[in-house]
Amino acid sequence: MATHHLTTDHLVYAMSPANAPVLRVASGDTVVVETADCFENQIQSETQAFTAIDWDHVNPATGPIAIEGARPGDLLAVEIERIEPADHGVMTTGKDMGVFGDELQESTIRIVPIAGGAVELLGRRYPAHPMIGVIGTAPAAAPVANGTPGPHGGNMDCKVITAGATLVLPVAVPGALFALGDMHAAMGDGEVCSTGVEMPGRITLRLRLLAARDLPAPFLVDAERIAAIASAATLDEAATAAAKALGHFLHQRTGIPLPEVAMLLSAQGDLRICQVVDPLKTVRMEFPRRIAEELGLDLQAALG
Ligand code: CA
Ligand code: CA
Repeated sequence: MATHHLTTDHLVYAMSPANAPVLRVASGDTVVVETADCFENQIQSETQAFTAIDWDHVNPATGPIAIEGARPGDLLAVEIERIEPADHGVMTTGKDMGVFGDELQESTIRIVPIAGGAVELLGRRYPAHPMIGVIGTAPAAAPVANGTPGPHGGNMDCKVITAGATLVLPVAVPGALFALGDMHAAMGDGEVCSTGVEMPGRITLRLRLLAARDLPAPFLVDAERIAAIASAATLDEAATAAAKALGHFLHQRTGIPLPEVAMLLSAQGDLRICQVVDPLKTVRMEFPRRIAEELGLDLQAALG
């Protein structure tokens, strides 16, 4: 299996079937991808004018990468092996940005040092938790701007999309056209101020086509959990979609009747908010991996 490298010389601002692939890989190959932050690294000072940002150059994703042999209807597994953060990130909030945007008049920028597994805010250090905000494949038809999440992935801002996780994405166009960016050194569920600790960085991942076509997508597996991720105009709709996607998957794969699956999700699952600040809201339905496997879910078979 080959290892490829991709730099930020190749950025796209939308997930689109019209994007030309900048790298072609075989299923099973490893790619080391460099990403710019969500402002394309335009913010380097706390005193620079927010109005000077070129808003045509936000949420860049590095790519797209074509996976040889990927056909519409296939599923792409993205095994995230490693994230190497930058030495600093940036946070911003202000008028019309995030939950407090109706109360804020001025924009505030903070440069956030990142070192030794911690981020520094207000002179104190907090645990870093590097994660990937924008990650997806091209939709079949109309392009989707990278600021928007959807069934194709995109700007899900889901904090469990991190090293050690496998993310399953749909393939809607030949080659899949996979791209990613918008890393955060730390972000809590919700991303309530509209930014995480935005940072550039380097990600090592393995791209692999699945034999199965019946998994929900986007879908995530890590050591602790399985999760279905859904985005919709409202949190209510996203919550329903995520819970149903995971429930139907467990029902089909284990044969447990739907009422009991619903009870298991209710008793041991967690519905969690990914983000409330993007054009569509994102929710994930999590269920403990250990319990799912005890109930007969064969993840080796599902992800083979
Ligand atoms: Ca984002
Ligand atoms: Ca971001």
